[in-house]
Amino acid sequence: MSLFYLISFLLFHPNYCATKKYTNYTLYRGVPVNKSHLDFFNSLSEMFDVNFWTPPGSLYKPIDFVLAPGDKKVFLKMAEEYDVYLSTLIADVQRAFDMQRVKSYIRRNLGSFDWNDFYRINDIYNWLKDLKDKYPEFVKVESIGTTYEKRPILAVHVTLPGSKLRSKVIVEGGIHAREWIGPCFVTYMLQQILDSPKSNNSNLKDIALTYEWFFVPVLNPDGYEYTHTNNRLWRKNRNNEYGVDLNRNFDHAFGTVGVSFSHYEETYCGAKAFSEKETIAMSNFVRNHSNHLEYYLAFHSYGQAMILPYANTRAHMENFDTVAAMAKQAADHIALRYNTRYVYGTAYDTVGYVTSGVSGCWVKETFSVPYVLTFELPDRGQYGFALPNEKITPTCIETMDGVLSLLKPRTKIYDKLRHEHRGFDDGQRTKFLDKLVILFNVCLFVIARFD
Ligand SMILES: [Zn+2]
Repeated sequence: MSLFYLISFLLFHPNYCATKKYTNYTLYRGVPVNKSHLDFFNSLSEMFDVNFWTPPGSLYKPIDFVLAPGDKKVFLKMAEEYDVYLSTLIADVQRAFDMQRVKSYIRRNLGSFDWNDFYRINDIYNWLKDLKDKYPEFVKVESIGTTYEKRPILAVHVTLPGSKLRSKVIVEGGIHAREWIGPCFVTYMLQQILDSPKSNNSNLKDIALTYEWFFVPVLNPDGYEYTHTNNRLWRKNRNNEYGVDLNRNFDHAFGTVGVSFSHYEETYCGAKAFSEKETIAMSNFVRNHSNHLEYYLAFHSYGQAMILPYANTRAHMENFDTVAAMAKQAADHIALRYNTRYVYGTAYDTVGYVTSGVSGCWVKETFSVPYVLTFELPDRGQYGFALPNEKITPTCIETMDGVLSLLKPRTKIYDKLRHEHRGFDDGQRTKFLDKLVILFNVCLFVIARFD
């Protein structure tokens, strides 16, 4: 092949020269304070090549979006005419992405995987396999399905030795490809559970022994890898060139609100519920472990919110108040560490829009799972998806504080289960202690009376 053909091939062959760069693309934030502002932001995608990081919702909710260099001048002129509130969050998005360091994992050297760096999908998967080899008696790694690009979707099952099991926790990460901090946190949480026997955090130890754990760190491995190789802002899976938003494809109020039926939109929900290999795999996996499933936690970014079901309505349904009280406590725990502030409530309460086909909503409704939460991890838009490396560890530490607060066994729902496993439950233990205290007091009385 001559040099000319080689250059032409690299320039024009989509698979070899497809890395999209965002040099001089700018991340703006607009805050609509009246209906005409909201209409203006809603119409942006008709006029410009706009990429929403947080889409238009209700009044006063910030809208973050990226514009191409060629569109900025016209846009800024229009924004002035509409008199919208506008600020620049990141002047050059590519520069922010270039600061996100991606490290390689060295096989069979578990210490070379850390939470100071981001990793490609094969490195995350190799680390998971090495964990299984290191702890064969209590870590299982299985593929729960295969993606369009023939990658396995790996799930990790952990039951610690000496566990006094009462119920199950499923942790989902990486359903949206560009939200890199999600898989970081899920792998961190897995590591924390595995390290808990050596930890001096008695709360962590106790919680780690209380549940059977299931982690799916990267539910959308094709999309995740594509953000490393082709387009850092990819969100969907890789079904065809357009992809489907997997967190709009679950069979809960499918296709009703907050989705698009247009292939190339970011929130394209697919032709029907569970049309995608990844959502089919996850739904089967959850169904297989739905017996005594107590918690379903999903990790996204960004926005610092804990989102409670249901996403398709403004109503507070079922045990909303109970879970909201738990979320408040978790938010307080998170804030104690580095003063990171979370909001909590339904999608409408927190991010300002309703949506449908969401994984957690389907899990809660289908299997009556009591505690379902979707986390929008940090930040609030200073870096957005371009969260720098030095934020990974603090984010993981503070989020773990919040998660431990949520997972603290607290309900009577599972007392029966606990009774079966532990011989006697907390209620009986309390009664026993009460009797001991009475007996002690009687002895004291007798001694004092006849002294
Ligand atoms: Zn997301």
